[in-house]
Amino acid sequence: MAAENNNPEWGFGTKAVHAGQRPDPVTGAVTVPVYQTSTYQQDAVGEDRGYEYSRTGNPTRSALELSVAALEGAEFGRAFASGMAAEDTILRLLAPGDHVIMGNDAYGGTFRLISKVFTRFGISYSSANLSDPNEVKAAFTDKTRMVWAETPTNPLLSVVDIGLLATLSHEKKALLVVDNTFATPYLQKPLSLGADIVIHSATKYLGGHSDVVGGFAATNSLEIDQELAFLQNAVGAVPAPWDCYLLLRGIKTLGVRMDRHCDNAEKIVEFLSSHSKVKEVLYPGLSTHPTFSIAEKQMERYGGMISFIVNGGKEQARDIAQGTKIFTLAESLGAVESLIEIPAAMTHLSTEGSPLEVDKSLIRLSVGIETVDDLINDLDQAMS
Ligand SMILES: *Cc1c(COP(=O)(O)O)cnc(C)c1O
Repeated sequence: MAAENNNPEWGFGTKAVHAGQRPDPVTGAVTVPVYQTSTYQQDAVGEDRGYEYSRTGNPTRSALELSVAALEGAEFGRAFASGMAAEDTILRLLAPGDHVIMGNDAYGGTFRLISKVFTRFGISYSSANLSDPNEVKAAFTDKTRMVWAETPTNPLLSVVDIGLLATLSHEKKALLVVDNTFATPYLQKPLSLGADIVIHSATKYLGGHSDVVGGFAATNSLEIDQELAFLQNAVGAVPAPWDCYLLLRGIKTLGVRMDRHCDNAEKIVEFLSSHSKVKEVLYPGLSTHPTFSIAEKQMERYGGMISFIVNGGKEQARDIAQGTKIFTLAESLGAVESLIEIPAAMTHLSTEGSPLEVDKSLIRLSVGIETVDDLINDLDQAMS
């Protein structure tokens, strides 16, 4: 797939608006049309114009694939119906007998997919603290073919050293997959740091408006891309043209939104850090965070996700999460509106009783792009 209408010299904002998103060659429509079609007329038997059936390829999807690949600095990109569909397809690069290493605080859906689905097909796994090189080294077996990392992690917002993990993985001939959902390519480009595949839940910041579910995989390896394209068509977890259009529309403002997410998050971190009811604030950009030196090295800025632990225990945490008026009590993240949640009772309920159990008085914020004073006032009233 050629990097159509992309100039590698362009800045992020230009790529976000134009890469893959050239005016329609037939009508001149400035916005990429929603090609709501399942099949395509052939000029002669077996002679198509690049598209034959929409599971295999669709022009709106092609535009999205070019767009996200350009933003990640990737040669190739493939869009999927959800983040989990992208993960499922990537994991099918493995064969029975292979072993995967994942973070011990991996996204719950990733953990479920590997531990409850892929183990049925002969894949084994270990989890390790990917911020600790010795733990990673100890987790490799002679069957390890893939290392699956997420950075920053959820909900502790720890940063994993992608370059170091790539070196360790490649020494053992394993692929490094990095889930870049939390950082987005605006803040961090895993492929440029040595990762083999970057994956997204496009549902979050790429879409950015809480109105579409989608996934993405990008790589610089032709061999990996061809296998992913084969699987994308063979398995069929593709996004609908309309969903591709919504994602393309969201992506145009990704850089603008990320700037505001970061600006707002930094001011809220400042507010929380000096609040008497707050015991600890977790934000990758805080110099007190244990992984700050890695974050500083591999991220442009530190994103819109904040976790904080309150002094008053789980009751107080619940009161705060239920007491906000602008922050919506909800799971998910990465959109224009601010969300608040209690991971121990919501997104991370399944970790209860395990070594990964999340502190019950930890609150997670997905900071939106509203006026920051209103967000701070909202938290202030909910906390008093
Ligand atoms: C949401 C999420 C996923 C799963 O993506 P879906 O689009 O919900 O299928 C994977 N990884 C991370 C980090 C996520 O936040």
